[in-house]
Amino acid sequence: MIQLFHVTKEYPGDGPALQDVSLEIDKGEFVFLTGASGAGKSTLLKLVFCDEPATSGQLLLFGKNVAKIRAGAVPYLRRNIGVVFQDFKLLPQRTVAENVALPLEVQALAAKEIRRRVKALLRSVGLEHRADKFPPSLSGGEQQRVAVARALAPDPALLLADEPTGNLDAERTLEVMELLNSANARGTTVVVATHDRSLLERYKRRVVVLDRGRLLSDGDSVRRAAGA
Ligand code: ADP
Ligand code: ADP
Repeated sequence: MIQLFHVTKEYPGDGPALQDVSLEIDKGEFVFLTGASGAGKSTLLKLVFCDEPATSGQLLLFGKNVAKIRAGAVPYLRRNIGVVFQDFKLLPQRTVAENVALPLEVQALAAKEIRRRVKALLRSVGLEHRADKFPPSLSGGEQQRVAVARALAPDPALLLADEPTGNLDAERTLEVMELLNSANARGTTVVVATHDRSLLERYKRRVVVLDRGRLLSDGDSVRRAAGA
């Protein structure tokens, strides 16, 4: 599903944010991406989301070389990808329900079906009572859960989440992780960037560790997650 071959990413005027990273993530996997702040986690997710180009190396997504995908085709590719960004990127002038409905509206679903799905998604993140509110009036944790509901709405083939539990208390963290787990159980490939060690310990999943842009380790042993 995701293949990186010797991928390096340099931002102008900076050292490499990613350096010679090779990595494969298969369909159906659940992968934690971890490492200290500045390790390159967000950058890796941005490359996979075609938000930034790699400086060198190759990135294949769904078997396609992303460097060769026309800019016009990127939105179609992204329909298969749910994303939870650190800054949520919710539309402030749309209600919570409208935000969650957005990715469903590009699919040709009936209005009634969209309403039903949005309601079920908001219930699953404990935010049914916030459906008609606007995101700026919600707490950070609530906005984060709206972002998770929106990302999962279209049942994406791939979910990319950047610190999806970063603003949540322990109970909400478990709820969001359960949502990600059940999406994964339904077949969604999930990649979660986190520096929360307790998540890695609780959920025995594959852990990819980045350290200053380099791949430090890749495996399911938490003990190898140095620097996380
Ligand atoms: P993280 O918590 O993942 O380290 P950052 O706080 O580093 O996130 O980044 C937040 C946003 O700022 C991101 O969109 C990132 O691309 C951008 N950013 C991070 N570092 C720099 C930088 N040195 N110059 C410009 N933008 C940056
Ligand atoms: P992480 O998500 O692990 O905290 P990032 O991918 O945000 O790491 O950042 C990796 C490195 O790239 C950091 O040194 C950061 O300052 C730099 N960086 C990230 N985004 C940008 C940007 N848009 N412009 C310049 N430098 C950036």
